[in-house]
Amino acid sequence: MKSLTSVTCALCGSTSHEFLCENSGFRVVRCPSCSLVFVNPQPTEAELKQLYSKEEVFTDGPKSSYLATEAKLIGRLWDHRLRSVERFKTGETLLDVGCGTGDFILLAKNQGWQVTGTELSTSSAAFVERHHGIPVLTFDSSLSQLALTDDSFDVITAWHVVEHLPSPREERGEMFRLLKPGGMLVVEVPNLDYWARKSYMEPLSQQMHLYHFSVKTMVRLLSDIGYRVVRIEVVDPWYGLTDNMACTERKSWHMDYSICYSGFRLEILATQLEFSLRTDFLIVGVVTF
Ligand SMILES: [Zn+2]
Repeated sequence: MKSLTSVTCALCGSTSHEFLCENSGFRVVRCPSCSLVFVNPQPTEAELKQLYSKEEVFTDGPKSSYLATEAKLIGRLWDHRLRSVERFKTGETLLDVGCGTGDFILLAKNQGWQVTGTELSTSSAAFVERHHGIPVLTFDSSLSQLALTDDSFDVITAWHVVEHLPSPREERGEMFRLLKPGGMLVVEVPNLDYWARKSYMEPLSQQMHLYHFSVKTMVRLLSDIGYRVVRIEVVDPWYGLTDNMACTERKSWHMDYSICYSGFRLEILATQLEFSLRTDFLIVGVVTF
């Protein structure tokens, strides 16, 4: 990494931090005030743009082989995710932040949603346009550069994206602005409380995860600006899906693992989940009316 920049805590603004571990060549720290775990120093925004836009993202590494060999599994995953969204919210307009190879927006479009995809990566955007015929909005560092109109979307999704964002605090605000009153944000991220990550004995991530959220820190990130968190699901999507494929009549994996709490019980839940067996979690937040 050529250029790195020091950052303050994206949750509480604290300038102090405690060193936790080295991960994938980065220094990982924890904020002593709010417990947010993040990479510090971080790659600059220009560096991130360049990194994500490399064409090699489609031709090298595990991601490309996975895309080639596990298409059916990926299709099932997106199908489950869209059903998760539609259980809570019906509407017309859906924005997928960091749409990657566009599988989700293609599926949502085919189900009748009016979709918009955004990407930092110019090569991903070109891929989606070439393969799915859906135009994707690209930006250099922040969604705000797209100058989208207030109250534009019924639903915003961010599947394994927020942990990559250099400014999650600003981006959650921008998403809040773009959602209609009563609109819904669905965020899925890796679960820091997953036992193997919590021990810091194994890598927290393979690459480029700038933030490592627990349920507690993500709930705070969203609640601070006024999202009403209505659902938390602690999931293990790949394991669950593989299992599900082997036993076709098994119950929906999402339902097996779902936990739904509201109000003050969220805090109790967050405490209880400090050593989770599930790799990821999904949070549904609704913009306050
Ligand atoms: Zn903090």
